[in-house]
Amino acid sequence: MSFLRALVSAGPSARLATHVVPPRASLLLANRLLSTTARRLHADPLPGAPHTPDHLHDVVAPRSPGTKPATFTAADEPGKDFDPYKDGPGAVDKAVHLFFFTEILRGMWIVLEQFFRPPYTIMYPFEKGPLSPRFRGEHALRRYPSGEERCIACKLCEAICPAQAITIESEARMDGSRRTTRYDIDMTKCIYCGFCQEACPVDAIVETQNQEFSTETREELLYNKEKLLANGDRAEAEIAANLHADHVYR
Ligand code: SF4
Ligand code: SF4
Repeated sequence: MSFLRALVSAGPSARLATHVVPPRASLLLANRLLSTTARRLHADPLPGAPHTPDHLHDVVAPRSPGTKPATFTAADEPGKDFDPYKDGPGAVDKAVHLFFFTEILRGMWIVLEQFFRPPYTIMYPFEKGPLSPRFRGEHALRRYPSGEERCIACKLCEAICPAQAITIESEARMDGSRRTTRYDIDMTKCIYCGFCQEACPVDAIVETQNQEFSTETREELLYNKEKLLANGDRAEAEIAANLHADHVYR
């Protein structure tokens, strides 16, 4: 009873909604509703027809022009039809190589060739390879043949050193010339770039070909002026020969 009372109070729309529709009639009604909606969605507006609501514009998506499937052939892009297996060995060739172990025989022949060749390795430190005249090894300070130091304490090497490994102090002598009182190189900071050698106007600081100066303590790699001059005295002949061999490039 309460259900009937609610229907009466809801009005005629509720009564229509609860009206029992026969199956055939409901099918006809659904078909008509669908066909009407489809026509409204896809039909072009007639001239003078009322404006289409905005929510229908959102639903009707514009149709894109038809596109052909991308079917490129070798004729479309000449030169790009590269076939990596075109000139390769055929199946018969591969089978022959596989059956007669030709690749193994070729490998054994290469081993036999190398067996009778002189070795590429050397027995360092008893044997040493050649070094370029431009090799940048341990540093040295040079003297003139008279025994006078070449360095004039211009400090160009100190200024150009990117590792700031060089420390120079200088003073004027009684004869007016200027010489260093301190010339230190921290070999642990040096990157062996050769800039100091390139910057020196009198070829005083050079890098020798000595590469065997490893030490047991870090302090031994803090070179002072005496150590550098001793290096120069010991390797002067070699340094002069290398500078002479390299002078055409300077
Ligand atoms: S070789 Fe380079 S890093 Fe070493 S002391 Fe000379 S300028 Fe400095
Ligand atoms: S070694 Fe050469 S660049 Fe360095 S202070 Fe002496 S003269 Fe100048």
